[in-house]
Amino acid sequence: MGQGMSCGHPNIELDFFAAVQYGELMMVESILRMDPGILRRTTSYGRLSALHIAAARGHVEMLSMLLERWDHPDVLNRHKQTPLMVAAMRGKISCVEKLLQAGANILTFDSANGRTCLHYAAYYGHSDCLQAIIQAAQSNPISESWGFARFVNVRDAKGATPLHLAAKKSRPTCVRMLLDNGALVCVSTGDYGSPGSTPLHLAARGGCLDSVRELLAWGADRLQMDSAGRIPYVVALKRNHICAALLNPSSAEPLVWPSPLKFISELNPDVKLLLETALIDANKKREKKIFKGMPSSYISPDHSEENVGDDDKSEGSDVELCCICFEQVCTIEVRDCGHQMCAYCTLALCSHNKPNRGTLSPPAPPLCPFCRSTITRLAAAKTEISEDVDKETSPKLRRSRHSASPSEGSSSFKGLSMGSFGRMGAHGSGRIADSSSLILDKP
Ligand SMILES: [Zn+2]
Ligand SMILES: [Zn+2]
Repeated sequence: MGQGMSCGHPNIELDFFAAVQYGELMMVESILRMDPGILRRTTSYGRLSALHIAAARGHVEMLSMLLERWDHPDVLNRHKQTPLMVAAMRGKISCVEKLLQAGANILTFDSANGRTCLHYAAYYGHSDCLQAIIQAAQSNPISESWGFARFVNVRDAKGATPLHLAAKKSRPTCVRMLLDNGALVCVSTGDYGSPGSTPLHLAARGGCLDSVRELLAWGADRLQMDSAGRIPYVVALKRNHICAALLNPSSAEPLVWPSPLKFISELNPDVKLLLETALIDANKKREKKIFKGMPSSYISPDHSEENVGDDDKSEGSDVELCCICFEQVCTIEVRDCGHQMCAYCTLALCSHNKPNRGTLSPPAPPLCPFCRSTITRLAAAKTEISEDVDKETSPKLRRSRHSASPSEGSSSFKGLSMGSFGRMGAHGSGRIADSSSLILDKP
C-alpha cells in the first residue's frame, strides 16, 4: 500500500481523492478503515466529494461502495452540483443509473446556471443519461408533486429548458427524445408573455440541420419572434447556415407529428414506426424541392436519394391502395370503424391542427374521412400486407421498415433523418470528453 498511508500524514486526503479518481478500490477501502470520516471531506478547490469524483470518472463500483458507507447521493460541490449532475455532464451512464437507484434528487438546481441534471444531459448531448433521468422522473415522487411535464420543461436561471440547450448545442438525438417526452416545442426563454428565444431560434443559430428538422416536424413555429424581433430564418441567414432554407416562411410547411392527440401518445410501436417513416419520407420530398439547385450534400443524407426517387406504386399487385391518395398501400386501420388508409394520409389527417404554442391542451380528435366517426385508436392494417409486403410488393415500405427498426426500437425519428449527423448524438462522446482534470468546469 501507498506511500502516504501512515496515520496523521497530511497527505492522506490527497491520497484518498487520487485513489478515488483512479478507481483504486482497495486503497480507498483501506483509507476508509483508518479514517471513515474522510468521506465527509471535500477537495479544497472545487469542494468535490469522493462521490463527485467517482461519478465524474465513471467508476461505478467505487461509487456503489462509497454510497454504501455514506448514503448522501445529493452532496453538493462548490457550484451546488450533485454527483448526478456531474455524471450526466460527463455521460457516465452507469453512474447516473446507480445514483438514480440510490434515490438521488433529480430536481436540484445548481448555483452556476440554475440547471438540473436533465439540463446537463441535454446540454452535453448524452442521450442515454437523458433517457435514464426521464425514465426515473416518470416514477419519481418529484413528478407527483411537480408534474412530469413540468419537470421535462424545467427552466434554468436564464429561462432555458433542456430542449433549448439540446437545440443550442446541436444535439438532435436529445432534441427528439425530449420532444417525444412532452417537451414544449414553442416555449420561449422569456418569462410569461415577454418574447425570448425558442428552441428553433437556438437550433437556427447553431446551424444544426437535423435539430431544425426535428423541431419543425414537431410543429415549431417559423414565425415566432425572439426578443430582438427576429424569426429563426433571419438568425440562420445571418450566419449563412443552410438550414435557413427550411426556416424560410415562404418555403413549404413540413408535415407535423400530431403529438397533442391522445391516441397518438398511445400508438403501438408498429403503427408509430409506420407513421414516423411516412413523416420522414414526406418531409424529405419537401426538402428535396426546397434544396433544389443547392449542392446535393445538404439534402437529407444517406438513404435519401434512393428513397425520394422511387415513386413506386406497387403496380400489378393485389395489395389494396389507399382510397384517398390512390398512391400508397393501406397500412393503417382506423378504430373502431375499421376503415383503412395509408400512413401518409393518416398523418395528413391528424396533423392539420398544429399544437397550440406553449400549452398542453389537446385538440379535438379528427374524424374518419369515410364514415365521419371519431378516431379513437389506430392499428396496423392486417390483411395480406404484413406478410406480402416483405416478400414482394412495395420495396419502399420494406426498406423503410428495415432501415428504421435497428435504431433503438420504438420512439425514434432518427432512422432516416439523422444520417451522418447521428454521430453527434451521445453514443461514445462521454469517453472522448473524459479529461484528466479533477476540476469540474461549469459549462
Ligand atoms: Zn393515402
Ligand atoms: Zn370510418
